[in-house]
Amino acid sequence: MRFKKIFYGKQSISWGDIWEVVKVLRSPFITQGPVVEKFEKSICEYTGAKYAVVVSSGTAALHLAMLSLEVSKGDEVITSPNTFLASANCVLYVGGMVKFADIDFRTACIDPREIEKKITPKTKAIIPVHFAGQSCDMKEIYSIAKKYDLFVIEDAAHAIGSEYLSNKVGCCEYSDMTVFSFHPVKTITTGEGGAITTNDERLYKKIKRLRSHGTTKNREILTRDEGPWYYEMHDLGFNYRMTDFQAALGLSQLKKLNKFVKRREEIVKIYKDAFAGDERFSFLEEENYSKAAFHLCPLLINFSKVKLNKKEIFKKLEEKGLHLQVHFIPVHLQPFYREFGFKEGDFPRAEKYYEKTLSLPLYADLNNKVVHKIIKIIKEIVV
Ligand SMILES: *Cc1c(COP(=O)(O)O)cnc(C)c1O
Repeated sequence: MRFKKIFYGKQSISWGDIWEVVKVLRSPFITQGPVVEKFEKSICEYTGAKYAVVVSSGTAALHLAMLSLEVSKGDEVITSPNTFLASANCVLYVGGMVKFADIDFRTACIDPREIEKKITPKTKAIIPVHFAGQSCDMKEIYSIAKKYDLFVIEDAAHAIGSEYLSNKVGCCEYSDMTVFSFHPVKTITTGEGGAITTNDERLYKKIKRLRSHGTTKNREILTRDEGPWYYEMHDLGFNYRMTDFQAALGLSQLKKLNKFVKRREEIVKIYKDAFAGDERFSFLEEENYSKAAFHLCPLLINFSKVKLNKKEIFKKLEEKGLHLQVHFIPVHLQPFYREFGFKEGDFPRAEKYYEKTLSLPLYADLNNKVVHKIIKIIKEIVV
Protein backbone atom coordinates (compact mmCIF):
# COMPACT_ATOMS: atom_id res chain seq x y z
CA MET A 1 0.00 0.00 0.00
CA ARG A 2 1.42 3.34 -1.06
CA PHE A 3 -0.09 6.79 -1.54
CA LYS A 4 0.53 8.84 -4.65
CA LYS A 5 1.63 11.77 -2.48
CA ILE A 6 0.02 13.06 0.68
CA PHE A 7 1.07 16.31 2.36
CA TYR A 8 0.21 17.64 5.78
CA GLY A 9 -2.13 20.29 4.43
CA LYS A 10 -3.84 21.52 1.29
CA GLN A 11 -6.69 23.67 0.06
CA SER A 12 -10.25 22.56 -0.57
CA ILE A 13 -11.63 24.34 -3.64
CA SER A 14 -15.12 23.66 -5.01
CA TRP A 15 -16.64 24.53 -8.40
CA GLY A 16 -18.72 27.06 -6.46
CA ASP A 17 -15.50 28.79 -5.34
CA ILE A 18 -14.21 28.79 -8.91
CA TRP A 19 -17.40 30.33 -10.27
CA GLU A 20 -17.11 33.23 -7.78
CA VAL A 21 -13.56 33.91 -9.00
CA VAL A 22 -14.58 33.73 -12.66
CA LYS A 23 -17.41 36.22 -12.14
CA VAL A 24 -14.94 38.78 -10.78
CA LEU A 25 -12.49 38.17 -13.62
CA ARG A 26 -15.27 39.26 -16.04
CA SER A 27 -16.14 42.38 -13.94
CA PRO A 28 -14.72 45.92 -14.31
CA PHE A 29 -12.41 45.54 -11.27
CA ILE A 30 -9.92 42.76 -10.87
CA THR A 31 -7.49 44.19 -8.35
CA GLN A 32 -8.61 45.72 -5.04
CA GLY A 33 -12.23 46.77 -5.46
CA PRO A 34 -15.73 46.13 -4.13
CA VAL A 35 -15.23 42.42 -3.39
CA VAL A 36 -12.25 43.17 -1.14
CA GLU A 37 -14.58 45.43 0.88
CA LYS A 38 -17.23 42.71 1.02
CA PHE A 39 -14.65 40.18 2.21
CA GLU A 40 -13.51 42.60 4.91
CA LYS A 41 -17.08 43.11 6.07
CA SER A 42 -17.59 39.34 6.26
CA ILE A 43 -14.41 38.88 8.30
CA CYS A 44 -15.72 41.49 10.77
CA GLU A 45 -19.07 39.70 10.99
CA TYR A 46 -17.40 36.33 11.50
CA THR A 47 -14.82 37.39 14.10
CA GLY A 48 -16.80 40.14 15.81
CA ALA A 49 -14.03 42.72 15.26
CA LYS A 50 -15.04 46.27 14.29
CA TYR A 51 -12.54 46.61 11.43
CA ALA A 52 -10.71 44.32 9.01
CA VAL A 53 -8.11 45.02 6.32
CA VAL A 54 -7.26 42.26 3.86
CA VAL A 55 -3.80 42.21 2.33
CA SER A 56 -1.57 40.20 0.02
CA SER A 57 -0.25 37.72 2.64
CA GLY A 58 -0.11 36.96 6.35
CA THR A 59 3.46 38.20 6.31
CA ALA A 60 2.33 41.54 4.83
CA ALA A 61 -0.31 41.71 7.58
CA LEU A 62 2.38 41.23 10.26
CA HIS A 63 4.60 43.83 8.61
CA LEU A 64 1.76 46.38 8.51
CA ALA A 65 0.93 45.58 12.14
CA MET A 66 4.50 46.48 13.13
CA LEU A 67 4.49 49.64 11.00
CA SER A 68 1.14 50.86 12.29
CA LEU A 69 2.32 50.48 15.90
CA GLU A 70 5.51 52.33 14.96
CA VAL A 71 7.82 49.58 16.13
CA SER A 72 11.28 50.70 15.05
CA LYS A 73 14.99 50.71 15.87
CA GLY A 74 15.64 50.28 19.57
CA ASP A 75 12.32 48.49 20.21
CA GLU A 76 12.00 44.86 21.25
CA VAL A 77 9.10 42.56 20.42
CA ILE A 78 8.51 39.20 22.12
CA THR A 79 7.24 36.16 20.23
CA SER A 80 7.35 32.37 20.34
CA PRO A 81 10.33 30.40 19.01
CA ASN A 82 7.83 27.71 17.92
CA THR A 83 6.41 29.57 14.92
CA PHE A 84 6.81 30.27 11.25
CA LEU A 85 9.62 32.69 10.41
CA ALA A 86 7.25 35.55 9.56
CA SER A 87 6.15 36.11 13.19
CA ALA A 88 9.74 37.07 14.03
CA ASN A 89 10.90 38.52 10.70
CA CYS A 90 8.21 41.24 10.75
CA VAL A 91 10.00 42.84 13.73
CA LEU A 92 13.28 42.92 11.83
CA TYR A 93 11.59 44.46 8.74
CA VAL A 94 10.97 47.64 10.75
CA GLY A 95 14.39 47.69 12.44
CA GLY A 96 13.26 46.28 15.80
CA MET A 97 14.79 43.34 17.67
CA VAL A 98 13.11 40.00 18.33
CA LYS A 99 13.10 38.42 21.78
CA PHE A 100 11.74 34.93 22.21
CA ALA A 101 9.85 33.50 25.17
CA ASP A 102 9.76 29.73 25.53
CA ILE A 103 6.60 27.67 25.08
CA ASP A 104 4.39 25.80 27.49
CA PHE A 105 5.31 22.21 26.70
CA ARG A 106 1.72 20.98 27.11
CA THR A 107 0.24 23.28 24.42
CA ALA A 108 3.32 24.38 22.43
CA CYS A 109 1.99 27.96 22.73
CA ILE A 110 4.02 30.78 24.27
CA ASP A 111 4.15 30.62 28.08
CA PRO A 112 2.96 33.91 29.66
CA ARG A 113 5.37 33.45 32.59
CA GLU A 114 8.27 33.29 30.14
CA ILE A 115 7.01 36.47 28.42
CA GLU A 116 7.16 38.41 31.66
CA LYS A 117 10.77 37.31 32.24
CA LYS A 118 11.80 38.72 28.84
CA ILE A 119 10.32 42.20 29.29
CA THR A 120 12.85 45.07 29.38
CA PRO A 121 12.40 48.86 29.19
CA LYS A 122 12.79 48.48 25.40
CA THR A 123 9.91 46.01 24.97
CA LYS A 124 7.13 47.46 22.83
CA ALA A 125 4.88 44.55 21.85
CA ILE A 126 4.07 40.86 22.20
CA ILE A 127 3.15 38.58 19.29
CA PRO A 128 1.53 35.43 20.72
CA VAL A 129 1.10 32.67 18.13
CA HIS A 130 -2.02 30.48 18.37
CA PHE A 131 -0.07 27.34 17.56
CA ALA A 132 -1.91 24.63 15.59
CA GLY A 133 -5.15 26.61 16.10
CA GLN A 134 -5.24 26.51 19.88
CA SER A 135 -5.56 30.00 21.38
CA CYS A 136 -2.87 31.24 23.71
CA ASP A 137 -3.85 32.30 27.23
CA MET A 138 -4.91 35.76 26.03
CA LYS A 139 -6.34 37.12 29.27
CA GLU A 140 -3.06 36.40 31.02
CA ILE A 141 -0.98 37.83 28.15
CA TYR A 142 -3.16 40.94 27.92
CA SER A 143 -2.87 41.62 31.63
CA ILE A 144 0.94 41.40 31.38
CA ALA A 145 0.79 43.78 28.40
CA LYS A 146 -1.33 46.28 30.34
CA LYS A 147 1.02 46.09 33.33
CA TYR A 148 4.04 47.04 31.19
CA ASP A 149 2.18 49.19 28.61
CA LEU A 150 2.80 46.91 25.62
CA PHE A 151 0.87 46.22 22.43
CA VAL A 152 -0.45 42.73 21.66
CA ILE A 153 -0.69 41.39 18.11
CA GLU A 154 -2.20 37.90 17.85
CA ASP A 155 -0.63 35.78 15.13
CA ALA A 156 -3.73 33.77 14.25
CA ALA A 157 -2.43 32.36 10.96
CA HIS A 158 -3.45 28.94 12.34
CA ALA A 159 -6.58 30.03 14.10
CA ILE A 160 -9.32 31.38 11.87
CA GLY A 161 -12.47 29.72 13.21
CA SER A 162 -10.93 29.06 16.64
CA GLU A 163 -12.53 30.32 19.83
CA TYR A 164 -11.14 31.77 23.04
CA LEU A 165 -13.53 31.91 26.02
CA SER A 166 -16.49 31.47 23.64
CA ASN A 167 -15.49 34.38 21.40
CA LYS A 168 -14.00 33.96 17.95
CA VAL A 169 -10.25 34.49 17.67
CA GLY A 170 -9.87 37.82 15.85
CA CYS A 171 -12.43 39.73 17.92
CA CYS A 172 -9.44 41.45 19.59
CA GLU A 173 -10.97 41.54 23.06
CA TYR A 174 -7.54 40.88 24.56
CA SER A 175 -5.28 42.38 21.88
CA ASP A 176 -4.72 45.45 19.72
CA MET A 177 -4.94 43.46 16.50
CA THR A 178 -5.10 39.97 15.08
CA VAL A 179 -3.37 38.72 11.95
CA PHE A 180 -4.64 35.91 9.68
CA SER A 181 -3.11 34.07 6.71
CA PHE A 182 -4.98 32.60 3.75
CA HIS A 183 -2.09 30.55 2.35
CA PRO A 184 -3.36 27.27 0.81
CA VAL A 185 -2.30 25.13 3.80
CA LYS A 186 -4.32 27.31 6.18
CA THR A 187 -7.97 26.63 7.03
CA ILE A 188 -9.37 28.92 4.30
CA THR A 189 -7.43 30.22 1.33
CA THR A 190 -7.16 33.04 -1.21
CA GLY A 191 -4.04 31.57 -2.87
CA GLU A 192 -1.82 34.05 -1.10
CA GLY A 193 -3.47 36.48 1.29
CA GLY A 194 -3.93 37.70 4.81
CA ALA A 195 -5.97 40.00 7.02
CA ILE A 196 -5.70 42.21 10.07
CA THR A 197 -8.61 42.78 12.44
CA THR A 198 -8.78 45.51 15.08
CA ASN A 199 -11.27 47.52 17.11
CA ASP A 200 -9.11 50.68 16.97
CA GLU A 201 -10.29 53.09 14.28
CA ARG A 202 -7.02 55.00 14.18
CA LEU A 203 -4.96 51.84 13.61
CA TYR A 204 -7.47 50.63 11.03
CA LYS A 205 -7.17 53.82 8.97
CA LYS A 206 -3.41 53.78 9.20
CA ILE A 207 -3.14 50.13 8.09
CA LYS A 208 -5.43 50.86 5.14
CA ARG A 209 -3.18 53.71 4.00
CA LEU A 210 -0.01 51.65 4.48
CA ARG A 211 -1.46 48.85 2.33
CA SER A 212 -1.38 51.21 -0.65
CA HIS A 213 1.87 53.24 -0.55
CA GLY A 214 0.75 55.34 2.43
CA THR A 215 -1.48 57.49 0.21
CA THR A 216 -4.79 59.08 1.12
CA LYS A 217 -7.58 61.09 -0.50
CA ASN A 218 -9.32 61.67 2.82
CA ARG A 219 -10.14 65.39 3.00
CA GLU A 220 -9.80 65.38 6.76
CA ILE A 221 -6.08 64.57 6.45
CA LEU A 222 -5.08 66.33 3.19
CA THR A 223 -2.88 69.37 3.77
CA ARG A 224 -4.46 71.06 0.75
CA ASP A 225 -6.87 70.29 -2.07
CA GLU A 226 -5.62 70.77 -5.61
CA GLY A 227 -8.55 69.00 -7.29
CA PRO A 228 -10.38 65.72 -7.68
CA TRP A 229 -7.22 63.88 -8.78
CA TYR A 230 -5.29 64.97 -5.72
CA TYR A 231 -3.85 62.51 -3.19
CA GLU A 232 -1.11 62.77 -0.62
CA MET A 233 1.45 60.41 0.84
CA HIS A 234 1.93 60.74 4.60
CA ASP A 235 3.68 57.48 5.47
CA LEU A 236 6.02 55.13 3.64
CA GLY A 237 3.67 52.30 2.66
CA PHE A 238 3.77 49.34 0.30
CA ASN A 239 1.69 47.62 -2.33
CA TYR A 240 0.16 44.93 -0.14
CA ARG A 241 -3.24 44.89 -1.87
CA MET A 242 -5.28 41.75 -2.40
CA THR A 243 -6.99 41.30 -5.78
CA ASP A 244 -10.78 41.22 -6.05
CA PHE A 245 -10.73 37.72 -7.52
CA GLN A 246 -8.75 36.47 -4.53
CA ALA A 247 -11.24 38.19 -2.23
CA ALA A 248 -14.06 36.41 -4.12
CA LEU A 249 -12.37 33.10 -3.34
CA GLY A 250 -11.92 34.18 0.28
CA LEU A 251 -15.60 35.17 0.64
CA SER A 252 -16.72 31.87 -0.81
CA GLN A 253 -14.30 29.96 1.45
CA LEU A 254 -15.35 31.91 4.55
CA LYS A 255 -18.92 30.71 4.02
CA LYS A 256 -17.63 27.16 4.37
CA LEU A 257 -15.32 27.83 7.30
CA ASN A 258 -17.56 26.28 9.96
CA LYS A 259 -17.92 23.17 7.82
CA PHE A 260 -14.14 22.99 7.33
CA VAL A 261 -13.56 23.37 11.06
CA LYS A 262 -16.05 20.61 11.84
CA ARG A 263 -14.36 18.24 9.40
CA ARG A 264 -10.94 19.04 10.86
CA GLU A 265 -12.30 18.27 14.35
CA GLU A 266 -13.61 14.91 13.14
CA ILE A 267 -10.25 13.95 11.65
CA VAL A 268 -8.34 15.00 14.78
CA LYS A 269 -10.69 12.84 16.86
CA ILE A 270 -10.00 9.81 14.65
CA TYR A 271 -6.25 10.34 15.04
CA LYS A 272 -6.48 10.83 18.80
CA ASP A 273 -8.63 7.75 19.33
CA ALA A 274 -6.36 5.64 17.13
CA PHE A 275 -3.09 6.57 18.84
CA ALA A 276 -4.50 6.77 22.38
CA GLY A 277 -2.95 4.42 24.94
CA ASP A 278 0.06 3.69 22.71
CA GLU A 279 3.15 4.66 24.69
CA ARG A 280 5.03 5.58 21.50
CA PHE A 281 2.70 8.52 20.80
CA SER A 282 1.04 11.49 22.45
CA PHE A 283 -0.74 14.73 21.53
CA LEU A 284 -0.75 18.31 22.73
CA GLU A 285 -3.19 19.11 25.50
CA GLU A 286 -6.23 21.30 24.93
CA GLU A 287 -6.94 24.05 27.42
CA ASN A 288 -10.49 24.71 28.63
CA TYR A 289 -10.42 28.34 27.52
CA SER A 290 -9.69 27.41 23.91
CA LYS A 291 -11.72 25.66 21.23
CA ALA A 292 -9.29 25.06 18.39
CA ALA A 293 -10.06 25.10 14.70
CA PHE A 294 -7.19 22.70 14.20
CA HIS A 295 -4.77 23.96 11.55
CA LEU A 296 -2.33 21.21 12.51
CA CYS A 297 -2.52 17.90 14.29
CA PRO A 298 0.96 17.43 15.77
CA LEU A 299 1.79 13.86 16.75
CA LEU A 300 4.47 13.66 19.42
CA ILE A 301 6.78 10.68 19.29
CA ASN A 302 8.25 9.27 22.46
CA PHE A 303 11.68 8.39 21.07
CA SER A 304 12.68 6.55 24.25
CA LYS A 305 10.18 3.85 23.19
CA VAL A 306 11.21 3.83 19.50
CA LYS A 307 14.35 2.43 17.85
CA LEU A 308 14.32 4.54 14.65
CA ASN A 309 15.25 8.20 14.69
CA LYS A 310 13.15 10.98 13.17
CA LYS A 311 15.09 11.15 9.92
CA GLU A 312 14.72 7.38 9.39
CA ILE A 313 11.02 7.57 10.13
CA PHE A 314 10.51 10.42 7.65
CA LYS A 315 12.38 8.52 4.95
CA LYS A 316 10.23 5.45 5.43
CA LEU A 317 7.04 7.53 5.46
CA GLU A 318 8.07 9.17 2.19
CA GLU A 319 8.59 5.75 0.63
CA LYS A 320 4.91 5.15 1.42
CA GLY A 321 3.92 8.48 -0.15
CA LEU A 322 3.48 10.36 3.13
CA HIS A 323 5.30 13.68 2.83
CA LEU A 324 4.86 15.16 6.28
CA GLN A 325 6.24 18.34 7.83
CA VAL A 326 7.56 19.40 11.20
CA HIS A 327 6.14 22.53 12.84
CA PHE A 328 8.33 24.26 13.69
CA ILE A 329 12.11 24.37 13.47
CA PRO A 330 12.71 26.81 16.37
CA VAL A 331 13.24 30.21 14.76
CA HIS A 332 16.18 31.11 17.01
CA LEU A 333 18.16 28.15 15.59
CA GLN A 334 18.01 29.44 12.01
CA PRO A 335 21.47 30.54 10.81
CA PHE A 336 20.18 34.08 10.30
CA TYR A 337 19.03 34.30 13.94
CA ARG A 338 22.14 32.60 15.32
CA GLU A 339 23.99 35.66 13.99
CA PHE A 340 22.25 37.64 16.74
CA GLY A 341 23.74 35.30 19.33
CA PHE A 342 20.85 32.83 19.78
CA LYS A 343 21.99 29.26 20.27
CA GLU A 344 20.99 25.72 21.23
CA GLY A 345 19.71 25.54 24.77
CA ASP A 346 18.25 29.08 24.79
CA PHE A 347 14.65 27.80 24.59
CA PRO A 348 14.83 24.17 25.73
CA ARG A 349 11.10 23.47 25.61
CA ALA A 350 10.71 24.65 21.99
CA GLU A 351 13.82 22.65 21.07
CA LYS A 352 12.58 19.51 22.82
CA TYR A 353 9.16 19.93 21.23
CA TYR A 354 10.76 20.21 17.78
CA GLU A 355 12.59 16.91 18.32
CA LYS A 356 9.40 15.04 19.15
CA THR A 357 6.81 16.47 16.77
CA LEU A 358 5.52 15.69 13.31
CA SER A 359 2.35 17.09 11.71
CA LEU A 360 -0.24 14.54 10.58
CA PRO A 361 -2.10 15.19 7.31
CA LEU A 362 -5.10 17.39 8.12
CA TYR A 363 -7.41 19.10 5.63
CA ALA A 364 -11.11 19.20 4.88
CA ASP A 365 -10.93 16.96 1.79
CA LEU A 366 -9.18 14.10 3.58
CA ASN A 367 -11.58 11.14 3.76
CA ASN A 368 -11.82 8.66 6.61
CA LYS A 369 -10.50 5.75 4.57
CA VAL A 370 -7.28 7.66 3.87
CA VAL A 371 -7.04 8.78 7.50
CA HIS A 372 -7.17 5.15 8.65
CA LYS A 373 -4.54 4.16 6.09
CA ILE A 374 -2.26 6.94 7.33
CA ILE A 375 -2.68 5.72 10.90
CA LYS A 376 -1.87 2.15 9.88
CA ILE A 377 1.28 3.19 8.01
CA ILE A 378 2.54 5.33 10.89
CA LYS A 379 1.94 2.59 13.45
CA GLU A 380 3.86 0.14 11.27
CA ILE A 381 6.77 2.46 10.58
CA VAL A 382 7.36 4.11 13.95
CA VAL A 383 9.05 1.23 15.79
C1 LIG B 1 1.60 30.85 7.54
C2 LIG B 1 2.06 31.64 8.70
C3 LIG B 1 2.39 33.01 8.60
C4 LIG B 1 2.59 33.72 7.29
O1 LIG B 1 1.53 33.75 6.45
P1 LIG B 1 1.76 33.92 4.86
O2 LIG B 1 0.36 34.17 4.40
O3 LIG B 1 2.33 32.65 4.36
O4 LIG B 1 2.64 35.09 4.64
C5 LIG B 1 2.65 33.72 9.77
N1 LIG B 1 2.63 33.12 10.97
C6 LIG B 1 2.36 31.80 11.10
C7 LIG B 1 2.34 31.20 12.47
C8 LIG B 1 2.09 31.01 9.97
O5 LIG B 1 1.86 29.72 10.11
